[in-house]
Amino acid sequence: MSKRKQIAIYGKGGIGKSTTTSNLSAALSDIGYKVMQVGCDPKNDSTNTLRHGKSIPTVMDTIRSGSNDFSSVIHEGYNDILCVEAGGPEPGVGCAGRGIIAAIELLDNNGVIDEYDPDIVIYDVLGDVVCGGFAIPIRQGLAEQIYTVTSSDYMAIYAVNNLFKGILKYSGSGGGLLGGIIGNSISKIAQREMIQDFSQQTETEVIEYVPRSPIVTRCELDGKTTIEGAPESEQAEVYRELARKVINNKQKFIPRPFDVDDLSDWGSTWVNKLLLEQKTAIEGIQDGGTGV
Ligand code: ADP
Ligand code: MG
Repeated sequence: MSKRKQIAIYGKGGIGKSTTTSNLSAALSDIGYKVMQVGCDPKNDSTNTLRHGKSIPTVMDTIRSGSNDFSSVIHEGYNDILCVEAGGPEPGVGCAGRGIIAAIELLDNNGVIDEYDPDIVIYDVLGDVVCGGFAIPIRQGLAEQIYTVTSSDYMAIYAVNNLFKGILKYSGSGGGLLGGIIGNSISKIAQREMIQDFSQQTETEVIEYVPRSPIVTRCELDGKTTIEGAPESEQAEVYRELARKVINNKQKFIPRPFDVDDLSDWGSTWVNKLLLEQKTAIEGIQDGGTGV
């Protein structure tokens, strides 16, 4: 068997990590890879579109119930993708990162991953704060490559810059390195250019730009990934292209994050550019849609 590839996908909450990850998993399974997707977000919905919206017991729920039957936390989804949700603490009690610690202990240290023997394991990790449990896939080099999903929103890029600081911190001691940035929800050229410029400034690369598309929402409402629900769409082709690139990608970047002040100056310049573009577009609509 070829060597197992383990990657982690980080990004700000709500930015499209689970959507992108599930489509990536689905596309990889279509080309014959055995995939395991591990949701590391207290939202517990990472793998829902791989299982027609049905939720599954989380690792944390199972631990809380005192059960030793960990086969109940691994459920097969689309194309037999192995789906796991780490889960989190009850709201208001304890650290959200505990779910990840528990899940990784179970899957990795107890040999569950070896037993199921997937070709690729993808951790879908909430990356608003890269602390405690959320840093584990990076810190221990558990994920050989880290990817990050971002839109052109300043706060999303701010979260990526923090992630880069985390990666840089552990880069000298065997931590996971950056495989690439995934630009998401792209609907304007300037958004793409902004993410591109951020990658250049931080000495990293963008692996794919994923357009914003209502097809994604349509499929999500049907409880499906775009790969399953709209396989003929251009959007599905973008996810397939991402899957091909990820599987072949050997790049490992040590990012050079911005200082906070420099990032804010950089952000202002780009936001002004986006505002100008928006103003022109609105004037176009007010002029009767002639665009002049
Ligand atoms: P996260 O896992 O980062 O919290 P999700 O993957 O759950 O975020 O996505 C949040 C919402 O954004 C979902 O409703 C999803 O359908 C939508 N979304 C994500 N990516 C796209 C896209 N490229 N086009 C349209 N909607 C998207
Ligand atoms: Mg998610």
